[in-house]
Amino acid sequence: MGKIDGATLMARSLKQQGVDTMFGIVGFPVIGVAAAAQQAGITYIGMRNEQSASYAAQAAGYLTGRPQACLTVSGPGVIHALAGLANAQQNCWPMLLIGGASPVYQNGMGGFQEERQVQLAAPYCKYAHAIEHRARIPYYVEQAVRHAKFGRPGAAYLDFPDDIIRGEVDEEKIRPAATVGEPPRSLADPDAVEAALSALESAERPLVIVGKGMGWSRAEDEVRAFIERTQLPFLASPMGKGVLPDDNPLSVGAARSTALREADLVFLMGARLNWILHFGLPPRFKPDVRLVQLDVSAEEIGANVPAEVALLGDGKAVVGQLNSALAQRQWFYPAETPWRSLLREKAQANLDAVQPMIEDDSNPMNYYRAYRDIEAWLPEDAIVIGEGANTMDIGRTQMANRQPRHRLDAGTYGTMGVGLGFAVAAAVTNPDKPVVSVQGDSAFGFSGMEIETMVRYKLPVKMVVLNNGGIGGGVGPLKEGRKVPPPILTYGARYEGMLAALGGKGLYVEDPADLRSALDEAMAFDGPALVNVLIHPQAGRKPQQFGWLTT
Ligand code: ADP
Ligand code: MG
Repeated sequence: MGKIDGATLMARSLKQQGVDTMFGIVGFPVIGVAAAAQQAGITYIGMRNEQSASYAAQAAGYLTGRPQACLTVSGPGVIHALAGLANAQQNCWPMLLIGGASPVYQNGMGGFQEERQVQLAAPYCKYAHAIEHRARIPYYVEQAVRHAKFGRPGAAYLDFPDDIIRGEVDEEKIRPAATVGEPPRSLADPDAVEAALSALESAERPLVIVGKGMGWSRAEDEVRAFIERTQLPFLASPMGKGVLPDDNPLSVGAARSTALREADLVFLMGARLNWILHFGLPPRFKPDVRLVQLDVSAEEIGANVPAEVALLGDGKAVVGQLNSALAQRQWFYPAETPWRSLLREKAQANLDAVQPMIEDDSNPMNYYRAYRDIEAWLPEDAIVIGEGANTMDIGRTQMANRQPRHRLDAGTYGTMGVGLGFAVAAAVTNPDKPVVSVQGDSAFGFSGMEIETMVRYKLPVKMVVLNNGGIGGGVGPLKEGRKVPPPILTYGARYEGMLAALGGKGLYVEDPADLRSALDEAMAFDGPALVNVLIHPQAGRKPQQFGWLTT
């Protein structure tokens, strides 16, 4: 038997564990790792900042259903990628970060880019370890992948020192590892299944909330069958959108605040009662709201609101159990109830409230007017990325999702700058689908240089920048001599020109009458395209009953 170097053994181990994409930036000591990955049949995408590479790896993980890798150099490279590690962990998305490290024999000596990387990564990970023996590389990769993928998914970190990467090991000394399969689908206690159905039956104003945990668990068929069978009104969380189509008649998304505030019983599936759902507390929820909670993580049960019924298990498996148990019952939630009427009226009132803005053709345009054309233009199967303040919040209500795992956004951590990394990942893992990112001008700027990555790899991402010249609101063109207010960015900055200069397609729109044709031109272009849309600097959302982050 021959010898094998650490980089090659790492690449083979990753491939064995289903890691088939790697996003990163090479340099000391990891150049050989990226090359070995390519040799092993892993798609390597070289990006422009480790942050974006770490965002891309986690989106690829969520979309493919298994962790994908991010590769960075030592020290500052790993530190840049911690942003993505934290984001993945918060989103409960799997990813594997592989950080190059200074050689083991220089530990503590002040080596080039030497850093305490395992300690830095550990708080943001389910699993973090240094590889100290070449022969154990398959062992560590199996550990990292299994932790990232099983149970509640999350991030894993492996420290990969220079001497381990470059040195060789006798093939017969390698400890092989088992291949990590699909996550085991644990079932809920059958008594809890019956208790959950009885609780739902007893509710007057029930509400189902579908979160992105159900997307990860690929529970769409079971959730659809459950909602159709029970006729329960439901809402989706921002990335739970699409598990059931937004235009399903039982969706009460358009009456979100009322549905949350007035429900007497919430069935929370694969979602957390964190800030996105106002902690499940008054004034956004009833003080005595009853909770049926489905989650794969036991520690999550009862977080912020005690659960009357806990359905601990895998989303797909447990909703399947509920569907089987429903066969023994006659009950479904009736077609005409005061609760349904209230939700219907409120949804209509909300739609009526934004209609004038949707129809307002003033120049510069408002967000709702821009979204009117964007929504009409979006292909049914597009993977849509939304990011920015108003751009994301309004876009969530104005862009419908019809398929599961087709919406990616700032997520649980509220991270700005994830959009272009997510878009790269979506295009790499789903080459047959349109990928559309709609970002504010501020959000775009965090990782704007990834447009070069898109050009280089010929990724036909369609970007729309809704440009109000600021973080949140802008002020329009600044008067001569005026101090630049902190949230202000250049009004009318020609971001599309950057992409055009790099070889993509750039279009600039001021008049709403020109928006649709520009979007069509972008879609028709064989490569990345960016439509830069001037938005009125003070355009905003419809008046909200509760201020942002009101608890
Ligand atoms: P959202 O932002 O959509 O509300 P969160 O990220 O807050 O979603 O919550 C997702 C929840 O889904 C987490 O509590 C996580 O433990 C849970 N989860 C993850 N995987 C599964 C699974 N396979 N089955 C059920 N729940 C899951
Ligand atoms: Mg802006």
